[in-house]
Amino acid sequence: MVILLRDDADEKAVAAALQGLGLWTRALTPDAGGPRMFEVETQSAHVSAELILAVPGVAHVAERKSPHPLVDALAEQYLVRCRSGADVWLGGDRTVLIAGPCAVESESQIQTIAGLCAAAGAQMLRGGAFKPRTSPYSFNGQGDEALKWLAAAAAEHGLGVVTEAMSELHVEAVAQVADIIQVGSRNMQNFALLAAVGRTGRPALLKRARGVGIEEWLLAGEHLLRHGCPYVVFCERGIAGPNAEMRNTLDLAAVAYLRHILKLPVAVDPSHGVGRRDLVLPLAKASAAAGASIILVETHDQPAQARSDGAQALLPHQLTELSVALDLEPVEPPSASHTGYTSRFSEFYKKSVQERRRVLTRQLGLSPATQRYLREGTLDLGVADHMTENVISTFALPLSLGLNFRINGRDHLIPMVVEEPSVVAACSNAARMVRASGGFRGDATRSVMTGQVQFDRVPNIAEAAKILRDRRDEIIALANEAIPRMVARGGGCVDADTRELDEASGLLVLHLYVDVGDAMGANVVDTVAEKLAPVVQSWIGGHIGLRILSNLPLRRLVHIECDVTAEMLGGEELADGVARASSFAEMDPFRASTHNKGIMNGIDAVALALGQDWRAIEAGAHAFAGLGREYRPLATWSRTATGLRGVMEMPLAIGTVGGSVQAHPGVRAAMELVRVDGARQLAVVMAAAGLASNLAALRALAGEGIQQGHMRLHARKSEILAAASGILPSRPTHA
Ligand code: PEP
Ligand code: MN
Repeated sequence: MVILLRDDADEKAVAAALQGLGLWTRALTPDAGGPRMFEVETQSAHVSAELILAVPGVAHVAERKSPHPLVDALAEQYLVRCRSGADVWLGGDRTVLIAGPCAVESESQIQTIAGLCAAAGAQMLRGGAFKPRTSPYSFNGQGDEALKWLAAAAAEHGLGVVTEAMSELHVEAVAQVADIIQVGSRNMQNFALLAAVGRTGRPALLKRARGVGIEEWLLAGEHLLRHGCPYVVFCERGIAGPNAEMRNTLDLAAVAYLRHILKLPVAVDPSHGVGRRDLVLPLAKASAAAGASIILVETHDQPAQARSDGAQALLPHQLTELSVALDLEPVEPPSASHTGYTSRFSEFYKKSVQERRRVLTRQLGLSPATQRYLREGTLDLGVADHMTENVISTFALPLSLGLNFRINGRDHLIPMVVEEPSVVAACSNAARMVRASGGFRGDATRSVMTGQVQFDRVPNIAEAAKILRDRRDEIIALANEAIPRMVARGGGCVDADTRELDEASGLLVLHLYVDVGDAMGANVVDTVAEKLAPVVQSWIGGHIGLRILSNLPLRRLVHIECDVTAEMLGGEELADGVARASSFAEMDPFRASTHNKGIMNGIDAVALALGQDWRAIEAGAHAFAGLGREYRPLATWSRTATGLRGVMEMPLAIGTVGGSVQAHPGVRAAMELVRVDGARQLAVVMAAAGLASNLAALRALAGEGIQQGHMRLHARKSEILAAASGILPSRPTHA
């Protein structure tokens, strides 16, 4: 029996726990990077696998005496995070197509073919830089130069890279570029090469050798894993056979066996399997049916000129047929004739979802990764599982676009995630009216967050406050020592002051003001607060209480305003009505609450689409609205000579780096759509969405009343939902 340890396991503690169960173990020392294992001595007690798995630090138990325990422990699914930004989920529900030429021949050749592959829905690009050839006189690849071309082409088209390391000499260079390193069939049992590939720590695609059985193939995989490969895909590519008409004999029985009996990740390369393009499509379909979740094919835009394997390269239209057969949706190449970024799309609402995406892609030239996300709208379970705890599934909501926004002279499309009908339409409509008067104007302060350190039972808080005032510069310097990377990026602690909250209990609070740049900043501020607490305590005495950011960041404010003419709004009476509604909110917290909810309709929807902490935004907005006075509207509207002017100020702690911004592919897509240069610009854009939503709500309330327009859309949604689910939805709420 072999016991595999987790990466973070304490080897000694696991050995001791196993000994407690009556198991005598021997550590199998790993090669650098390989996983740690224990072999269980035969004289040990008999213990069930469940009990062993319950020992903290144990990852897997190979019960039967298998010669390849690491292969046995391979997960059926694996996420490859490619350098191009693409996430490729191996072994998932969707077939992964790896396509490309046999060899990378030139920079332009691989660029062209990468475009064809991406367009056909391939997720990864293949192509040999180093070619194993049966004859020494055949073309043997363009070497290191080809690796560069391959990487550039894949990056441009949002594809992952699969390329072969033919010898130990190339492994390092190949690992710099390949998201999956291919080991060719002729090298399947080159154990020195397998070890070198393993040591790179990159996943591998292991081609089966022509003349060997399944067990030897699996053992070759064990070599890779033993030396540090995190994942191995077994690729069937044809074995020796009697048919002269075919290059090889594609062993689909082995594919079915690996997938269905051994539950291993398996790929098929029908191109090398048959050696003729006219049979690649039927065999690719058969491979998928047999259980291959990854299909690897060769393709060429000019196969007659190909320097190797031209006869088996799919023609571009055949690649498209394959994509249709495998149910892969194509993406537009990013260089397609897009006309430029704009927030104006005529009759967008009348189009189908697919049509909207097509128009958007043509107009904007969206990256393949974004196109794919828009099409699928899903979050990989693997990514989800890393985001929070106890994950059992994912949960989807509509992603929409707010249109017509012009902010500080630039167009912005506004990604919005919201379940409530009419929010997106109303916000886009208001932005159209504002646009006619030049659009929104806004700016945001530096991204200065507030951190709080609570001290209580301080003997003399006035005295302590004075000490902290005198040592302000020292406090700032100490704070910055805790966050060198933020300081290097131009941020850092900029100020500190105190709040003397309660003399009797000695409650004094130190406020630390930290410029967090393009981050939301909670972690940075918490780090600073925790670092400073004991130092400050040594100066002023008392007890350390909470050390945490405040969600009322008064030095991180956004200001937005706009004009709209009475004519655009629909007449003087409506303009008067909006101004009166605004005064009503200024006089009455009951109304102000609903007024502000209408603003947050816009802001929260953008926050969700862009992966922001909307609880923090909400907390800040309402604390600000009620700060030191009766709860007030965040935005107000007043009459001007031509119509109305709306003005809003509020705190907005949002970020364009870190957190879900990087982890969630939908957030990355939304970021690409909104086009902002950083957190401050994003704050202005979000505020504009809030002010537009507010204007739309007030206009509706002052005019026909909310029920007509809003409830018309509600009614439409209710009908559709009722028809779709057979359940009558509950009556929705609205602002
Ligand atoms: C290849 O895929 O480029 C290749 C040479 O394949 P194989 O090792 O299967 O012959
Ligand atoms: Mn080839």
